Amino acid sequence: MTSQEIKALTGQYVMNTYGRFPVAIDHGQGATLYDPEGNAYIDFTSGIGVCDLGYGNQAWADAIAQQAKKLGHVSNLFYTEPAAKLAETLCKRTGESCVFFASGGGEANEGMIKLARKYSFDKYGKGRATIITLNNSFHGRTITTLMATGQDVFHNYFFPFTEGFRYADADDLSSLEAAAGDDVCAVMVELVQGEGGVLPLDKEYVQAVAKLCGEKDWLLLVDEVQTGVGRTGALFAFQQYGILPDVVSFAKGIAGGLPMSGIMANEKCRNVLGPGTHATTFGANPVCAAAGMVVQETLTDSFLEEVQAKGAYLRQGIEALDLPCFGKTRGLGLMIGIEVKEGYNKSEIANKLIENGLLVLTAGPGMRLLPPLVITKEEMDQGLAIMRKALS
Ligand SMILES: *Cc1c(COP(=O)(O)O)cnc(C)c1O
Repeated sequence: MTSQEIKALTGQYVMNTYGRFPVAIDHGQGATLYDPEGNAYIDFTSGIGVCDLGYGNQAWADAIAQQAKKLGHVSNLFYTEPAAKLAETLCKRTGESCVFFASGGGEANEGMIKLARKYSFDKYGKGRATIITLNNSFHGRTITTLMATGQDVFHNYFFPFTEGFRYADADDLSSLEAAAGDDVCAVMVELVQGEGGVLPLDKEYVQAVAKLCGEKDWLLLVDEVQTGVGRTGALFAFQQYGILPDVVSFAKGIAGGLPMSGIMANEKCRNVLGPGTHATTFGANPVCAAAGMVVQETLTDSFLEEVQAKGAYLRQGIEALDLPCFGKTRGLGLMIGIEVKEGYNKSEIANKLIENGLLVLTAGPGMRLLPPLVITKEEMDQGLAIMRKALS
């Protein structure tokens, strides 16, 4: 099919819930994508932070094909090797104790919220169920995670929302203390606010929050759906912040492009969700887990150091272009935000770049770049050249 035909068919039969860019993608190699007509696009998006190994990765495709031939799905009523191995790897590399696998980020966060509330219910009984989240956060699109999201624009249309969330300002301990109360059971944060605009939290603030959570027996819940799995130049961002969260959620990059998510819990929270309290049909799918193992094998310590170096290179390159529309860059590893100067429109900039062959994202008030972690220097240079050409 041609791009035009794909777009027309989508317009007729797919629910119109996305403001899509006017491009159809057919295939890819490395960090370069191609439309059906063969036009190339340098990819600074990774399918919204998912395709950490880029496109056409041979080891990843082989692992998926082999596992699919052996066993595509069997449910959590039985044991399978790939999920057990992936859980072991994640725990050994992070210091967490156990994993629950699900399929999407919002779903993982629902599990994290359930765990926090049950931990408190088991220990203190009813009435201690409130979770403090941060203003400008993003935690998902379910009825509950929309409410966990600290942005009023998400609290519309779908009433009634789940009760029990209160919001504090990021990097402001007094705001968190003001939100405290006898009804609180947990604090939930993204260490780099992604959808909110790529805003890394301050390390001292995060460590102070962890200390406060310990004192009050609030669980510290870290949403690493976007920051996790190498994106920030560590396997998980919390490792760079010097904390061990009670529960961590992950999703996007975990299986390099297949739908998989989950939560990891520390020893204290190991037995909170017992048999019958939480489940999901597709969770721990063996094909997704086999793909996840290839991601884990790829993300060695030296690979993660390269992610940091690539992030620094790209940020310096962007700032050196000195484009009229862009201000400072910010971020961690290959999770990069670019300030858009007043008088310029982020969506217009994104469209202009895409027309010229560079795929980018927006977030909050600015641009957001989440390139595949395997992106090469040549591909980054091509992307920078497109920025110069399209935006000078
Ligand atoms: C993307 C994202 C989610 C939602 O994940 P889905 O897979 O779309 O449900 C939740 N939290 C954060 C931080 C995210 O970036």
